[in-house]
Amino acid sequence: MKTMTCQQLGGACDLEFSANTFEEMAELSKKHGMEMHQKNDASHLEAMQRMGALMKNPEDMEKWYESKREEFETLPES
Ligand SMILES: [Zn+2]
Repeated sequence: MKTMTCQQLGGACDLEFSANTFEEMAELSKKHGMEMHQKNDASHLEAMQRMGALMKNPEDMEKWYESKREEFETLPES
């Protein structure tokens, strides 16, 4: 298992996610983001807006995703 925080994944808090694959990690972060969105958490709404702007450009999004995947790959197993 590897651990990344919400913030490391483009979010806004220090909540930690643990997953075996980056896909799993992205899924956890997405779910958490949607929960915080429902709670109208201001800092997460802001973070999601930033991500939304990034998603408008698929190339930028791809680059971001790949850099996060690399970050995940270099993390030590815990
Ligand atoms: Zn968060």
